[in-house]
Amino acid sequence: MPLKRFSIRVKLTIGALLPLFVAIMICSLAGIYTINSSVVRQAQEKVRTDLNSAREIYLSEVAHIRDVVSLTANAPFTATVFANGRHARLSSLLSPLRSSERLDMLTAVSSDGRVLFRARNPEVFGDSRAGDRLVSRALRGEAVAGTAIFSPEDLLMEGPDLARQATIEILETPRARPSNKQVGRSGMLLVSSAPVRDEAGRIVGALYGGVLLNGNNNLVDKIKTIVYEGVQFQGEDAGTATMFLDDLRINTNVQTKGGGRAIGTRLSEEVYNHVIVNQKKWIDPAFVVKDWYFSAYEPILDLDGKVVGSLYVGMLGKPYTAIKQKVTLIFCGVLLLGSLVGLAVSGFIGSRLSRPIRELQNLVKRFSAGEKDVQIAVTTSDEIGDLAGEFNIMTGKLNQREAEIRELNSELERKVSERTAELEEKNQLLIKAKEDLVRAEKLAAVGELAAGVAHEINNPMAIIRGNAELLQMAIPAANPCREEADIIAQQVGRVERIVASLLQFARRERRYLEKTNINRLLDEILGQVGHQVPLTGIMVRKEFAPELAQVNGDDGQLRQVFTNLILNAVQAMPDGGTLTVTTEEDIPAEVCVVTVGDTGIGIAPDNLQQIFNPFFTTKATGTGLGLSVSYGIVKDHGGSITVWSEEEKGATFTVSFPLNR
Ligand code: ADP
Repeated sequence: MPLKRFSIRVKLTIGALLPLFVAIMICSLAGIYTINSSVVRQAQEKVRTDLNSAREIYLSEVAHIRDVVSLTANAPFTATVFANGRHARLSSLLSPLRSSERLDMLTAVSSDGRVLFRARNPEVFGDSRAGDRLVSRALRGEAVAGTAIFSPEDLLMEGPDLARQATIEILETPRARPSNKQVGRSGMLLVSSAPVRDEAGRIVGALYGGVLLNGNNNLVDKIKTIVYEGVQFQGEDAGTATMFLDDLRINTNVQTKGGGRAIGTRLSEEVYNHVIVNQKKWIDPAFVVKDWYFSAYEPILDLDGKVVGSLYVGMLGKPYTAIKQKVTLIFCGVLLLGSLVGLAVSGFIGSRLSRPIRELQNLVKRFSAGEKDVQIAVTTSDEIGDLAGEFNIMTGKLNQREAEIRELNSELERKVSERTAELEEKNQLLIKAKEDLVRAEKLAAVGELAAGVAHEINNPMAIIRGNAELLQMAIPAANPCREEADIIAQQVGRVERIVASLLQFARRERRYLEKTNINRLLDEILGQVGHQVPLTGIMVRKEFAPELAQVNGDDGQLRQVFTNLILNAVQAMPDGGTLTVTTEEDIPAEVCVVTVGDTGIGIAPDNLQQIFNPFFTTKATGTGLGLSVSYGIVKDHGGSITVWSEEEKGATFTVSFPLNR
């Protein structure tokens, strides 16, 4: 499977973002954990101190009852009233006091423990309270104060309304400790007792009083007001306090779902075991009635130091949960924002970093596609900048090398074509030399043969000529045979001319070289040519170079060459035409150039190669030796002879000789 391709920009972005994201994530989790745990710890710590405050308030309430009871018991007239024992006196002492000090009960007992007077329930008296710890300890001279549990019967004696107040219907709540009771009837009271002594210091009785806590929320509301200052969260008290008799909530400001006070609900098994059974403080979150609270419980001991209930304070967990949520939300926001900013920043940096790389890639592509002038603008001073610089150097070197190679190539091509041209020239020269050699060999052979033949023919011809002349002389002019004799003499003359030509061709007479004026020579020839052939209808044009340098040559032989050429030209124009003779100097080549041109019949292409061969002729009476003899003479003079011709348009012969300067 092909690997997925990611651009450098994406990789850089991920590379930068991932650690950032992980770092923010770790910081967030650590932050959330730290803040949450410190919030919980602090909340829990606060509840611990709140419980101390609550205990102080509780104890101050006990102290208040103790003070009321002790001061009254110790007052000098109290013993007198006790000794008197009359209800009216006792009532006038105790009833206003109970009301003013808001005591639920204030009772006087005699020295043997019998009830003398109950300020709350004056009708019931005379019963013995000697077995009660509160009373017995006071009658032994001890002033006591603290918490006490009263049975329903005792409460009934103290006042039927008190017994009713103490009766609490047990409510079922989630997590509450299981119970088979429907109603709680015992009462928990803050009590105090003190002995009453006469002037001699003898104990004449005792006084005890107290406040019933069942259904009495004054104390817990006081705690709430003092400790939590009545702070609320979403309509609920943020701080609460409760007092338990055993596991039963007898007064509280914790609310039920219905909004009432949760009196009658019970402790959870866990808290009960911890606080009531094991007599330890509970400082931890706990589920109370319907919500979680940061809670603190401590046991309440009775006068004998036995655990009879517990005091509770708690702070609603919801505000802290809200803080935790808020903190978590803030951290999530920071994480998100940080990630977004990181994404933007790393994306920006990634794109800035990858831009020169992309540019480099494009330029490399363009360069490999053949573009020459490829240069990267080096903008960064890092490895990419170095790479771009190296790339520029590399392209520069490659371009330079390519230019050198191109130059070498064209130099090579130029040299090759030069050499080829030289070779071609040499080849042409070789072909020409070969042709010349063949021609020379041929001419030599022909010349040798011709010389032999001419030599052999000369003697018989002399005899024939002599006899023919004798015949001409012997035969009178009027004789019809005279014409044959004349023809014989005429043809003998022709044969002699041919033989002479042959001998000239074969022998190559010695050359007498001298300075020859070509213009003059041509003038002479043109002046005399009319004697040899009729020039009827022929226009002669002379275009001579005015100051033509002289040529070193044999006057007679050169005359023969030009005569041949001019005669051939005239013969090629039987119907008239223009004969053009030119001379000029070719300064660079240091030659004298003579052309003889006509507007005659021209030379067939097939014949062009043969006209310089001996005995080649197209004329009925031609010998075919004129041009071959001329060719030999020109060559002997170190010159050259060439021909241009087009059929029906004429021919031009060009002869050049080295100039004699
Ligand atoms: P001849 O004149 O006796 O034929 P040459 O050697 O002088 O011998 O000439 C050879 C042949 O070259 C001629 O027969 C003719 O065919 C051809 N020739 C030479 N000069 C000319 C010219 N000016 N125009 C046409 N043909 C020419």
